[in-house]
Amino acid sequence: MDSVRKTYQEKVKPTPAQERQLEAVLWRCRTLYNTALEQRITLWKQRGVSITRYQQEAELKELRAEMPEYASIHSHVLQDVLARLEKTYQAFFRRMANGEKPGFPRFQGATRYHSFTYKEYGNGARLDNGCLVLSKIGRVAVRWSRPIEGTPKTVTISKEADGWYVSFSCADVPTEPLPETGHETGIDVGVKVFLITAEGKLVENPRHYRKAERELKKAQKRVSRRKKGSKRRKKAAELLAKKHQHVRRQRTDFHQKTALMLVRQYDTIYHEAIQPANLSRRPAPKPDGNGGYLPNGAARKAGLNTSIQDAGWGHFLSILACKAVCAGKRVEAVNPAYTTQDCSSVLADGTICGERIYKTLSVRTHVCPHCGYLADRDENAARNIQWRGQRLRGVPALARVMNREPVVRRRVMPLENDSQLPWQASGFAGRQTTTVWCDMV
Ligand SMILES: [Zn+2]
Repeated sequence: MDSVRKTYQEKVKPTPAQERQLEAVLWRCRTLYNTALEQRITLWKQRGVSITRYQQEAELKELRAEMPEYASIHSHVLQDVLARLEKTYQAFFRRMANGEKPGFPRFQGATRYHSFTYKEYGNGARLDNGCLVLSKIGRVAVRWSRPIEGTPKTVTISKEADGWYVSFSCADVPTEPLPETGHETGIDVGVKVFLITAEGKLVENPRHYRKAERELKKAQKRVSRRKKGSKRRKKAAELLAKKHQHVRRQRTDFHQKTALMLVRQYDTIYHEAIQPANLSRRPAPKPDGNGGYLPNGAARKAGLNTSIQDAGWGHFLSILACKAVCAGKRVEAVNPAYTTQDCSSVLADGTICGERIYKTLSVRTHVCPHCGYLADRDENAARNIQWRGQRLRGVPALARVMNREPVVRRRVMPLENDSQLPWQASGFAGRQTTTVWCDMV
């Protein structure tokens, strides 16, 4: 039987004394993180030397001998702090190498450091009769919501807006395959809807964030109005954190339900390999030659960005991938180039039309002058994503695996904003290669 790695998170109920101890560990871990970061920076600046995680780890022994407060923390927890710093550095250099503009690893303030990890279950942290036993802290009560499966590997204690949590990362968790349905589909992120499938099925966007946005703004304002360092400000900040947590949870819930619905219905789901970070980048300013700037679509793109971030597409895709693995289904990413522009219609001979049709963001409908196919812009994209994924996987006859009848040729309907379609302007007749246009959605 196949198995996966899974993380189980449960709420813990420490006593007030234990809570103080947990806070102290968190505080010291954060201090260690910042000190280790400073050491790296100083050594590099003064001597041009880069120090590795293992060199820093070797110094832990000395630290523990000199500072008794660190001797009271399990050595694995401290090692994990240094491992996190190393990971941050590696991510920084990887993104540098990719030509991105990453921020340098930063010092962590009290509100930015939330957790510490025992890297080996049974060594410093273990379960005993439903209780979590932490070295030097003692038995902590756990509020179980479900039994954990597989073999626990690591234990992480984290502090969230509404209290403390424990996460067990478990290996060898058996999968629960869902029955095969014989259906495949492509999905595309919509601007007005959350996603659209190749059959034109829509999943509406609940827009939790928009609804909660006003409340969040209000809570945020309350925080900034209050005096820095005051008790009242701290209280307001806690309330704000709780509101953020609520929004996050609503969104995760929606994503999980949607992903489950998809893996129940389809054996393979194709999606675009998109990088939300790239989509969120601001369009370059367009100078008009007189010292001013021409419209560059930044405002429109900002609106688009909000809906992308709102939808949390990347978050959803990672949840979908997890759900698929657990259910014994497949999720595949395909190259997103021209999925919106190309015609996805299946012709009578079983081939794909593939006519490339220029569309700006405001054109919501795909109309093919070559084959007459008419579809929603995003549905057309979702179909292209499916065809592309199936071609990559070597599924031979596209028409045969289609989930619905091949498209009947439809009459080209006039569109509201059809002046933007190039063949209208150029007196289009017959097949031609139209303008190359970069995909934005
Ligand atoms: Zn076509």
